[in-house]
Amino acid sequence: MAPRQHVEASPRTARAIARDLRVAVHDVAHRPGTIRHLEREARAPALAAGTVGIPEGAPIDLDLRLEGVGKGVVVEGFVSGAWVAECSRCLTAVTGPFSVEVHELFEEQPIESETYRLEGEEIDLEPMVRDAVLLEIPPAPLCSDDCAGLCPTCGVDRNVASCDCTTESPDPRWAALGDLAFDPPTTDARARTASDS
Ligand SMILES: [Zn+2]
Ligand SMILES: [Zn+2]
Repeated sequence: MAPRQHVEASPRTARAIARDLRVAVHDVAHRPGTIRHLEREARAPALAAGTVGIPEGAPIDLDLRLEGVGKGVVVEGFVSGAWVAECSRCLTAVTGPFSVEVHELFEEQPIESETYRLEGEEIDLEPMVRDAVLLEIPPAPLCSDDCAGLCPTCGVDRNVASCDCTTESPDPRWAALGDLAFDPPTTDARARTASDS
């Protein structure tokens, strides 16, 4: 599923994702020094940044340590999984792993953009997962570093086929003329062209 074609979760999927990412913390919240480990495979909420994202419901691994502090709970550890995207040159599907480190405070009166909400005896990891993963996924992935991309003229995928448009490289002198043709017809441009010739 391409992240671009995001559709709303079915209520059932949405509930399953919400359940996976909600964690009861009554045993550690506000109890400095108490620690619990949380290892869980969860279903991801749909996440997208440009053409890269995490498909809704895709498995993500939570490997977290919950530690009680006076203000609430500190969550630290790793969130990992796989992103999917279209190669930014040839548009084929690409995927790659991510593993992002988190270290966040959950408290009753969260500070916007700094801490997350502790709701009674529960925390919802979804906002933290969202923020962390979106920072970690690559902005414009390629299927390979030397991807040849699509022909800008006919659209053929140059990794698998060639086309007539790719066989001749334009004569640099003609290319220079082409550039001139697109110059805005200002007085300065005309003057420069005249003095050059
Ligand atoms: Zn490519
Ligand atoms: Zn072509």
